[in-house]
Amino acid sequence: MVERGWRSITKQSEGKTSDSGHWMDQAKCKDWDFKKNGDPFFPVSSDEKAAADALAVCADCPVILACQEYSMDKEITRQHGVFGGTIPKARISHARRTSRKRRQAQEAQS
Ligand code: SF4
Repeated sequence: MVERGWRSITKQSEGKTSDSGHWMDQAKCKDWDFKKNGDPFFPVSSDEKAAADALAVCADCPVILACQEYSMDKEITRQHGVFGGTIPKARISHARRTSRKRRQAQEAQS
Protein backbone atom coordinates (compact mmCIF):
# COMPACT_ATOMS: atom_id res chain seq x y z
CA MET A 1 0.00 0.00 0.00
CA VAL A 2 1.24 3.47 -0.89
CA GLU A 3 1.68 5.79 2.06
CA ARG A 4 0.25 9.26 1.84
CA GLY A 5 3.06 11.68 1.11
CA TRP A 6 1.04 14.86 1.29
CA ARG A 7 -2.58 15.78 1.74
CA SER A 8 -4.98 14.95 -1.02
CA ILE A 9 -7.69 17.34 -2.14
CA THR A 10 -10.12 15.41 0.02
CA LYS A 11 -8.06 15.94 3.13
CA GLN A 12 -7.29 19.54 2.25
CA SER A 13 -10.96 20.34 1.95
CA GLU A 14 -11.97 18.90 5.33
CA GLY A 15 -13.29 21.64 7.58
CA LYS A 16 -12.25 24.28 5.08
CA THR A 17 -15.34 24.51 3.00
CA SER A 18 -18.33 25.65 4.99
CA ASP A 19 -19.70 26.89 1.69
CA SER A 20 -21.32 23.87 0.04
CA GLY A 21 -20.77 25.54 -3.32
CA HIS A 22 -16.99 25.22 -3.00
CA TRP A 23 -15.53 23.16 -5.84
CA MET A 24 -13.64 20.88 -3.43
CA ASP A 25 -16.97 19.66 -2.07
CA GLN A 26 -17.66 18.13 -5.47
CA ALA A 27 -14.30 16.40 -5.75
CA LYS A 28 -14.63 12.88 -7.12
CA CYS A 29 -11.65 11.80 -5.01
CA LYS A 30 -13.84 12.26 -1.93
CA ASP A 31 -15.29 8.82 -2.70
CA TRP A 32 -11.87 7.17 -2.77
CA ASP A 33 -11.29 4.75 0.12
CA PHE A 34 -7.80 5.82 1.22
CA LYS A 35 -7.69 3.34 4.11
CA LYS A 36 -8.45 0.40 1.87
CA ASN A 37 -6.71 1.46 -1.35
CA GLY A 38 -3.85 3.73 -0.29
CA ASP A 39 -3.26 7.14 -1.83
CA PRO A 40 -2.58 7.04 -5.57
CA PHE A 41 -2.87 10.85 -5.59
CA PHE A 42 0.57 11.04 -4.00
CA PRO A 43 2.42 7.99 -5.28
CA VAL A 44 6.00 7.34 -4.24
CA SER A 45 7.10 7.16 -7.88
CA SER A 46 6.67 10.07 -10.29
CA ASP A 47 5.86 7.55 -13.03
CA GLU A 48 2.44 8.06 -14.61
CA LYS A 49 1.69 4.32 -14.08
CA ALA A 50 1.95 4.80 -10.31
CA ALA A 51 -0.76 7.46 -10.54
CA ALA A 52 -3.02 5.48 -12.88
CA ASP A 53 -5.76 4.91 -10.30
CA ALA A 54 -5.84 8.59 -9.39
CA LEU A 55 -5.87 9.68 -13.03
CA ALA A 56 -8.85 7.37 -13.63
CA VAL A 57 -10.75 9.05 -10.78
CA CYS A 58 -9.89 12.52 -12.07
CA ALA A 59 -11.08 11.63 -15.57
CA ASP A 60 -14.61 11.39 -14.20
CA CYS A 61 -14.42 14.39 -11.86
CA PRO A 62 -16.86 17.30 -12.36
CA VAL A 63 -14.39 19.85 -10.97
CA ILE A 64 -11.31 18.80 -12.94
CA LEU A 65 -10.72 22.29 -14.41
CA ALA A 66 -10.96 24.03 -11.03
CA CYS A 67 -8.55 21.46 -9.63
CA GLN A 68 -6.09 22.02 -12.50
CA GLU A 69 -6.19 25.75 -11.88
CA TYR A 70 -5.69 25.19 -8.14
CA SER A 71 -2.69 22.96 -8.77
CA MET A 72 -0.99 25.51 -11.02
CA ASP A 73 -1.41 28.29 -8.49
CA LYS A 74 1.31 27.25 -6.03
CA GLU A 75 4.73 25.73 -6.53
CA ILE A 76 4.06 22.95 -4.00
CA THR A 77 0.93 21.73 -5.75
CA ARG A 78 2.56 22.15 -9.15
CA GLN A 79 5.44 19.87 -8.17
CA HIS A 80 3.70 17.16 -6.14
CA GLY A 81 0.74 14.85 -6.48
CA VAL A 82 -2.07 14.24 -8.92
CA PHE A 83 -4.39 17.20 -9.40
CA GLY A 84 -6.92 17.81 -12.13
CA GLY A 85 -5.96 14.67 -14.02
CA THR A 86 -2.33 15.70 -14.32
CA ILE A 87 0.96 14.57 -12.84
CA PRO A 88 3.70 17.01 -11.75
CA LYS A 89 5.81 16.45 -14.88
CA ALA A 90 2.94 17.65 -17.09
CA ARG A 91 2.20 20.67 -14.89
CA ILE A 92 5.85 21.73 -14.75
CA SER A 93 6.12 21.44 -18.56
CA HIS A 94 2.94 23.47 -18.95
CA ALA A 95 4.25 26.17 -16.58
CA ARG A 96 7.53 26.37 -18.52
CA ARG A 97 5.74 26.62 -21.87
CA THR A 98 3.44 29.33 -20.55
CA SER A 99 6.36 31.27 -19.11
CA ARG A 100 8.31 31.00 -22.39
CA LYS A 101 5.31 32.21 -24.42
CA ARG A 102 4.79 35.14 -22.05
CA ARG A 103 8.46 36.11 -22.35
CA GLN A 104 8.33 35.87 -26.16
CA ALA A 105 5.21 38.02 -26.25
CA GLN A 106 6.88 40.65 -24.06
CA GLU A 107 9.99 40.65 -26.25
CA ALA A 108 7.85 41.04 -29.37
CA GLN A 109 6.16 44.12 -27.85
CA SER A 110 9.43 45.85 -26.92
S1 SF4 B 1 -9.60 16.43 -10.49
FE1 SF4 B 1 -8.83 14.63 -9.37
S2 SF4 B 1 -7.63 15.41 -7.64
FE2 SF4 B 1 -8.89 17.08 -8.45
S3 SF4 B 1 -10.71 17.10 -7.20
FE3 SF4 B 1 -11.15 15.86 -9.00
S4 SF4 B 1 -10.66 13.77 -8.46
FE4 SF4 B 1 -9.73 15.08 -6.90
